[in-house]
Amino acid sequence: MVVIRQELVDSIKKVLFILSTCLLVFVAARNSITWHLQRFWGASGDFWQRQWENVYVLFGSSDALVCIVGTFIITTGIFWLANAFFMIIDLTGKPVALFRYKIQPEKNNPLPKEDLYKAVKQVLYNQVVIGIPFICVAYQAMKWRGCGVGGELPTFHWVLLELSVFTLFEEIVFYYSHRLLHHRAIYKYIHKRHHEWTASIGLVALYAHPIEHIFSNLLPPFIGPLLMGSHIATSWMWFCIALISTTVAHCGYHFPFLPSPEAHDYHHLKFNQNYGVMGVLDRLHGTDDLFRETKAYQRHFLLLGMTPVSQQYPDSPKKKAE
Ligand SMILES: [Zn+2]
Ligand SMILES: [Zn+2]
Repeated sequence: MVVIRQELVDSIKKVLFILSTCLLVFVAARNSITWHLQRFWGASGDFWQRQWENVYVLFGSSDALVCIVGTFIITTGIFWLANAFFMIIDLTGKPVALFRYKIQPEKNNPLPKEDLYKAVKQVLYNQVVIGIPFICVAYQAMKWRGCGVGGELPTFHWVLLELSVFTLFEEIVFYYSHRLLHHRAIYKYIHKRHHEWTASIGLVALYAHPIEHIFSNLLPPFIGPLLMGSHIATSWMWFCIALISTTVAHCGYHFPFLPSPEAHDYHHLKFNQNYGVMGVLDRLHGTDDLFRETKAYQRHFLLLGMTPVSQQYPDSPKKKAE
């Protein structure tokens, strides 16, 4: 009992530490870095506004076309662009130098073509058959909420604030919907499909049962912009960040200067650890306790040099069976 209480106090302390650090960084950024960026943004404010008006005219000055067709093109385009990069490495095995960064080097090496085709088919199905109707419903909801489309773009500070709120809502909605999908009564019907990949590749980010696609992939990033009544341009920016982030989390390589995918890669390997995106709720609920004992946890940081994390923290010479 005492141990449990101590662990709880310990996890709350760590969460508070993470949150207060984030807050401090945010305030510091607001007071220094963003001041310069605001000047840049302010100086070129007209420029961005004019570009946005061009985009709006391109879609026939129609809110519906910008929100439905535009959102589909932007989100589908950025996803396949980001994944093209990883697919070329996975399929050709080149450039060889990049294989040093593979997290599970013994798997998908080479990547079986039939697995890739299966993933491509499911992703396209989710993007078109599930995604387009979802975007249409989302458009109605955003219209009802009064989200901006053709009008003035928000200020840089406001965009930053909104992005922080979106991240928070995504963490909460994704963590709990993902944990629910792991419930033993429903796991095999829905989420098992996403976990066919014990070593994931970028595309697996959207390789999921259609129900999971709605509740875990589409809803969590959409909640923030809906609640905040965000401008569609801010939402596009956020969807691009979220799609690139989940692609990197699934890509299977721990590359320099990209966010560490170790936590979610470990989730695919072990199933019952690391349900969240940022790890804050995992820390709070103790769903990262096994992960924190591993080599993968030691390697879980933003790599700022060229030496692969697997060389900095090599596997133990004698691997004991777990
Ligand atoms: Zn995953
Ligand atoms: Zn899962």
